Amino acid sequence: MSALPYLSFARPALDEATIASVADVLRSGWITSGPKLKAFEAALSEYVGGRPVRCVSSATAALELALNVCGIGPGDEVITPAMTFFAAPNMVVKVGATPVFVDVEAVTRNVDLAAVAARIGPRTKAILPTHFAGLPCDMDGLYELAKKHKLRVIEDAALAIGSSWRGKRIGSFGDICVFSFHPNKNITSIEGGALVMNDEHEVREIERLRFHGIAYLPDRTRDVATAGGKFNLPDVNAAVGLAQLAQLSAFNEKRRALAGRYFERFRTQPACELPHPGYTNDEDGHSWNMFAPLLPLAQMTLSRREFREALEQRGIGTGVSYEAAHLTTLYRRFGYHRGNLPHTERIADTTVTLPLHPALTAADVDRVCAACAEVLAAHTR
Ligand SMILES: *Cc1c(COP(=O)(O)O)cnc(C)c1O
Repeated sequence: MSALPYLSFARPALDEATIASVADVLRSGWITSGPKLKAFEAALSEYVGGRPVRCVSSATAALELALNVCGIGPGDEVITPAMTFFAAPNMVVKVGATPVFVDVEAVTRNVDLAAVAARIGPRTKAILPTHFAGLPCDMDGLYELAKKHKLRVIEDAALAIGSSWRGKRIGSFGDICVFSFHPNKNITSIEGGALVMNDEHEVREIERLRFHGIAYLPDRTRDVATAGGKFNLPDVNAAVGLAQLAQLSAFNEKRRALAGRYFERFRTQPACELPHPGYTNDEDGHSWNMFAPLLPLAQMTLSRREFREALEQRGIGTGVSYEAAHLTTLYRRFGYHRGNLPHTERIADTTVTLPLHPALTAADVDRVCAACAEVLAAHTR
């Protein structure tokens, strides 16, 4: 038993003012989507430079609706990295299209654009990249490629709210961009997600698709032309999101400082492979949702599972982000197998996500670093 407090790898930072704002909504008589949602959407839109934003119940829902808005369905292919969360390829399958997995770059863990280019064919309709751990993809290269082949881009920016590329915030430019407000992300609305879109036409589409397909006729009766689902974000959630958004810059500053501390103090023997430190021309451009070194398993007598258990015994929680999507049971059925995407597989096999969230202190990070060093030193092959 450790006398020290348990350090979870992610944790939402909710202050009393946020909790009070939820109580206000609960007392107001209007608890589902209403004025708080409108205010949250307006604040998000302002945050991304005025582009239109609509919220839904999760980033997963946002990805599904983004694919709908792009008209992607049976017979279409969407190119996506296999080093991503399952939600992205799953929604491609859900709309009836085929995910085409490509490898990531070894160092950034972001999609390899040369690999994307090599897989573009007559059925390709979109690229669905992920900004890994909040580090932006090469946005210049990505949009150049998309433009050249007239492809839509749906950015999975679930971890990248507050990240920027050459001084421009993710979501403030480009095609459709999706954020997540799950509790493990940089800001939360308990559950929730948002889409940044291009124009009012897409906004109308999303408004219909997220709420039964309903459109209003001139006489204020309702019409349905498409079978929409129900993905609206309630005001209770929007109130949390609104209070969180006001703190996003402070949260991300804290995350960056803690990531900096990891780079300063994380020294193990044998050495782990540290994540990409962020682009030097965008010092504040990385949202640092995760800090995930790769374990030197070949030089260790412990498996990853045993390493994680050893940290757990020291009161330190860890995660795995991500498993290789193409090697899950579902995507093996599409013909993928081990050996297809070497960088993805190496990262998936060796990655460990260490604690990183705004409530941690530098001393907590030092404790994690010391524990990793101790466990590895004691179990070197
Ligand atoms: C968390 C996450 C999602 C899913 O977000 P939800 O809001 O939980 O649906 C999608 N993509 C990535 C990269 C994520 O990390």
